[in-house]
Amino acid sequence: MSSTAVPIDRALSALPPLKLFIGGRWTDSDSQEQLDVVSPATGKLLAKIPHASAADVNRAVESARKAWDGWRRTPPFVRAAACHRIADRILARKEEIAAIISAEQGKPYLAEALPEVEESAENFRIAAEDVKRLESPIIPARDPNKRLFTFKVAIGTWGIITPWNFPTVIPSEYFGPGIAAGNTIVFKPAEQTPLAAFLMTQCIAEADLPPGVFNLVSGDGPSTGDALVTHPGIDGIGLTGETTTGDTIQRRAGVKKLLMELGGNGPQIVLEDADLVRAAKAAAFGAYFNAGQVCCATERVLVDRRVHKDFLDLVIEEAKSVYVGDPFMPEVKMGPMNNAPVLEKTERHLADALRKGARVVFGGKRVAGQPTNLFFEPTVVDNVSPDTLLNKEETFGPVVPVITIENYEQAIELANGTGYGLQMAVFTQDIDKAFYFADRLRSGNVVINDTTDYWEAHEPFGGGGGTRSGYGRLGGRFTFDDMTHLKTVALHTNNL
Ligand code: NAD
Repeated sequence: MSSTAVPIDRALSALPPLKLFIGGRWTDSDSQEQLDVVSPATGKLLAKIPHASAADVNRAVESARKAWDGWRRTPPFVRAAACHRIADRILARKEEIAAIISAEQGKPYLAEALPEVEESAENFRIAAEDVKRLESPIIPARDPNKRLFTFKVAIGTWGIITPWNFPTVIPSEYFGPGIAAGNTIVFKPAEQTPLAAFLMTQCIAEADLPPGVFNLVSGDGPSTGDALVTHPGIDGIGLTGETTTGDTIQRRAGVKKLLMELGGNGPQIVLEDADLVRAAKAAAFGAYFNAGQVCCATERVLVDRRVHKDFLDLVIEEAKSVYVGDPFMPEVKMGPMNNAPVLEKTERHLADALRKGARVVFGGKRVAGQPTNLFFEPTVVDNVSPDTLLNKEETFGPVVPVITIENYEQAIELANGTGYGLQMAVFTQDIDKAFYFADRLRSGNVVINDTTDYWEAHEPFGGGGGTRSGYGRLGGRFTFDDMTHLKTVALHTNNL
């Protein structure tokens, strides 16, 4: 079996100095503390990174605030050109960045990490194009002497806090529109996957933005992240992370603009008339892509009793074809899970389901003989009851839990019943049923006849109103709505 062409040593040697990036320079942290970055696939220490202190965060925020007035007044076409330069730099280094992602996150290099880096570059390109076409209305005035104009203007300095499951694409969803719109940024990446963030910062540094427009502080959530969230100089916070983290940050932030992309518990509903082959492939992809560690992963499948047996046989065949192992091997479809807590949560959810009558029909345990104990088998569980953690909570592991449904109302009730509402999918050949479900599902996004794991870089993605999956939209021009505010200018004119 062959390994890919990008040795991890080459990627590690391409890393910039592992320092903070503040005011356009790599700079030492005030703190002597460091955090280890360990590969989930090999267990080896990849690097040590600075654990930024509150004083470091303060320096970064001050530098971002200082840069803001100049950057927001820089013409949008100039800001757009800067975004294109960042995209160019990312693509020029895409193999090194992807290798780092695979090493520190665990996802397969060819199938997932390289496409992630390409999409990260694309997010800057989309923002660069969209910012040139930003529009805002001129509205009629009641007063005959007035003209009312609106402008979409940058909000100010943002703290961007991101998770470990997509180390570059999620940050880029904020950075592209944020920078293009004239905001400045202080970035705190996930402590599990910071090395790709250092490389992405290097790309931004090489794109010649004015000092302070973009700053990186590495560290953990409760200290470095909290210092950012509570800093009075931060105007907006973009968080992609767990719902519980969203709750904490919302409480700690006070009156700041918030953009929250939180957890999901994506159901895939399979009706009696579904294309079952397609539905089984979609469920397997949705549950095993990135080892199920995706906000819109297929977390449960709600299958009509009449097609349950056929669907189950098909999805087991799909699970059998998933080769687990070293993420650098091209044949591998699933690498290790990223960390012990996420794997232990998967095991806890499975044990709970088994206690409540579920049956593992494929997989169900850690893979033996791997360099670390973070590899988990692609798993299918049948006879899952609605009162299980598998149904009610976000599992974030490579599991297809199958729940049998008796009728459409029960499917809708179960889908909507967990409080999450990020992305849901329904499989049916009937357009009337498809739109009935699309209307009834309380979710930010609904997919018809494809996986819950489907998204495109420019579509508006985010939690449904009234759910625990967050609010605001990331994706293309829609992010501008959240990372700018509408400024109204009323002009008095004298009638001649
Ligand atoms: P997490 O909430 O543990 O961490 C996310 C980020 O928040 C990290 O950078 C972490 O250091 C930081 N953080 C944690 N506590 C903090 C605090 N008190 N103050 C400030 N920052 C803090 O999430 P995770 O485990 O890294 O990621 C997985 C979660 O992210 C899942 O729930 C997943 O569904 C969600 N997610 C959502 C989307 C979406 O688009 N809705 C996309 C990807 C991931």
